[in-house]
Amino acid sequence: MQTLSDPDSRLSTARVLILGAGFAGLATAIRLGKERAKAQVTLVSRRNYHLFTPLLYQAATGLVDPDHIAQMVRPAARKYGFTLFEGEVSNVDIDAKTVQTSFGDLAYDYLVLAIGSETNDFGIRGVSEHAISLKTLPDAERIHSKIIDSLERALVISDQAKRKRLLAFVIIGGGATGVELAGSVRDFVKFLLNDYPGLAEDQFSVVLIELMQNLLPGLSRYLSEQTYRILSKRGIQIRLNSRVMEATDGGVLLSGGELIETGNIFWTAGTKSPKLVDNLDLEKERGRIKVDQFLRVREHPEIFAIGDLASISDLKTGEKVPWTAQSAVQEGDWVGIALSRVLSGRKIEPFVYQDKGYMLSLGRQVGVAEFRHFKTSGFFGWLLWRIIHIALITTTRSRLGVIFDWTFAYFYKRNAAHTEH
Ligand SMILES: Cc1cc2nc3c(=O)[nH]c(=O)nc-3n(C[C@H](O)[C@H](O)[C@H](O)COP(=O)(O)OP(=O)(O)OC[C@H]3O[C@@H](n4cnc5c(N)ncnc54)[C@H](O)[C@@H]3O)c2cc1C
Repeated sequence: MQTLSDPDSRLSTARVLILGAGFAGLATAIRLGKERAKAQVTLVSRRNYHLFTPLLYQAATGLVDPDHIAQMVRPAARKYGFTLFEGEVSNVDIDAKTVQTSFGDLAYDYLVLAIGSETNDFGIRGVSEHAISLKTLPDAERIHSKIIDSLERALVISDQAKRKRLLAFVIIGGGATGVELAGSVRDFVKFLLNDYPGLAEDQFSVVLIELMQNLLPGLSRYLSEQTYRILSKRGIQIRLNSRVMEATDGGVLLSGGELIETGNIFWTAGTKSPKLVDNLDLEKERGRIKVDQFLRVREHPEIFAIGDLASISDLKTGEKVPWTAQSAVQEGDWVGIALSRVLSGRKIEPFVYQDKGYMLSLGRQVGVAEFRHFKTSGFFGWLLWRIIHIALITTTRSRLGVIFDWTFAYFYKRNAAHTEH
């Protein structure tokens, strides 16, 4: 088996620069600290928190406080001995081995590219103007505000057609984010209607649009079929094989000419690599940076690319490693171990991805999970999802905050104050 050795093992304390404090970059920084690597580790990221994206749809639907899924990185920086700079990275000069940031240039011996991905609207007309995506904390707050705003406006409008339009919620993209958001929007609005006398349950609708012939493309048939069954049973209108041609302020136009009238369009249909990555003169595959079995960029062994911006092949199956938090953490952790071994002159073996399974929370007390040969859905799937996600949250503040939010929402109410305008 091929092994990796340090291309420049003369470095006594190498400068390791990590870009992006997401799942991948943070895992690298923490692992380097745990391994006590002979390195001066610097992490640069746009925000000084790590966003726990699996709960983002819950922040958008009042189930958790947005602050509780923004995990502080500075305590980890202190604990694991890395330097954190909040700032925007604008360019990487690969030849000069420097990175340009909003606060100045930084030099590196090893670079870990981990700035994730951006929303992809595939150039579809009107999406950037009329749809809200779900990728960042401000996105979640905008969706939350939009839902409440629509209910407030529906209450004071007498025109039934306009009211129906305000109470129609359309989610475009039937992947993991879309199905979870659809289930939670349905629960949120249904619960809110109790506080809006005059708005009836049969006046609101949730529509989920998917281009492919099944939900959750790329995941197993079991997950896809169970999700379809659960969401349909909860009254969500699922439109498969449906191509969105345009988003307007009147609704969503499908390829057959049908217009789904709505004032609420939420976009979860895809991601792409950031502009900064596009501009780098590195080999790409489906727009993502192609790496070797050691997660290094070809011809630049000092650069690692991990997480959503990388195209990585699974050594066991030959398939592409999916762009998920679980893979990003594995890759980040692996790079931390690899770098610390390389810096102390030890050899390493290639990265091997471990598929740990998938699970989805689809609404109050319903979920679906599949781990290798174990499958479950309904209440048990939901409970498992909650237990595992609490365990995955890394800071005590966030964990306790989310437990409090869930308990409060379960026995009392979700947050529906219209604080954003
Ligand atoms: C709504 C939603 C729900 C999801 N749910 C799940 C789930 O349940 N399970 C799962 O496995 N995966 C889930 N994912 C996918 C998962 O979030 C990503 O695959 C994962 O975050 C990728 O990790 P990453 O480190 O590559 O990027 P990210 O986690 O996105 O981190 C990138 C970091 O880089 C920073 N950054 C970006 N550009 C710059 C710049 N120019 N300068 C400085 N900093 C920059 C960002 O601010 C961010 O901190 C979800 C994604 C979304 C959007």
